[in-house]
Amino acid sequence: MPWTERQQVLLQAMGLRVWGAPGDVAAAPRPAAEPAAEPAAAASTGPASPAPPLAGTAPAPPRPPAAPRAAAPAREPAPARPAAAAPAAVPVTTPPRSDLATLGWPALREAVAGCRACGLCDSRTQTVFGVGHEQAHWMIVGEAPGENEDREGEPFVGAAGQLLDRMLAALRLSRAAEGAPERSVYIANTLKCRPPRNRNPGLQEMAQCEPFLVRQIELLQPRLILAMGRFAVQALLRSDEPIGRLRGRVHHYQGVPLVVTYHPAYLLRSPLDKAKAWADLCLAADTVEGVAS
Ligand code: URA
Repeated sequence: MPWTERQQVLLQAMGLRVWGAPGDVAAAPRPAAEPAAEPAAAASTGPASPAPPLAGTAPAPPRPPAAPRAAAPAREPAPARPAAAAPAAVPVTTPPRSDLATLGWPALREAVAGCRACGLCDSRTQTVFGVGHEQAHWMIVGEAPGENEDREGEPFVGAAGQLLDRMLAALRLSRAAEGAPERSVYIANTLKCRPPRNRNPGLQEMAQCEPFLVRQIELLQPRLILAMGRFAVQALLRSDEPIGRLRGRVHHYQGVPLVVTYHPAYLLRSPLDKAKAWADLCLAADTVEGVAS
């Protein structure tokens, strides 16, 4: 069946080749099926390796029918914390949870900017608080700032962020601070400081930083959380399950519907999984619409 014009626009926004579309000079018959294999491990966000050619990429599906909502467990079982290569223990001072509970956006931003609770404060250029509309219906949670984010002070401004923005634009969503809340996202990371050389977040670092993310979620009260990659999932669902096993259904964080998907940095390395990420975003959009109506 040929792609509709709308589907072609969405697929192209995600960088997926539209087979047989006008102008696709290399058009060839549609590949038979999406690759069967899921990545064995959860998405990692390390430096991207060169992407394989898109010629064999299976097209993303058109919006699939909404999946049934999971019966609402508040939280999944407590996790083993990430097996990341953590730095040597540093003396830490956890911002007490109660100190943050009354803070509004500006005071919370200041608290993050002044945080020296773990060793990352010594190597950061600046903290990366978050970006977007403070009444956005969508909250997107990533891992940690990389080099570009550390320099610019905004999450997801590198190559992974550009892919994320294209995927959001395909759903008519934006990270702009102004605009209709239902068309807006707020983006934050589990860590507010860049781990040196983009290594994985450490256990202590995640624990120290978590109260900031928790307060951001409390302030935003999103209709939906999109957890991208394994560290966001560990922080919010307390699960070490691979992304491939958690995606495709609706979880909950403190009563807020939560959809799990691959981290965009992983998608840059594994474009075959873009189709699944697109299905995840469609599930998220259907969920928001269901919640909102
Ligand atoms: N990866 C993330 O998880 N967050 C960013 O802000 C940038 C890259």
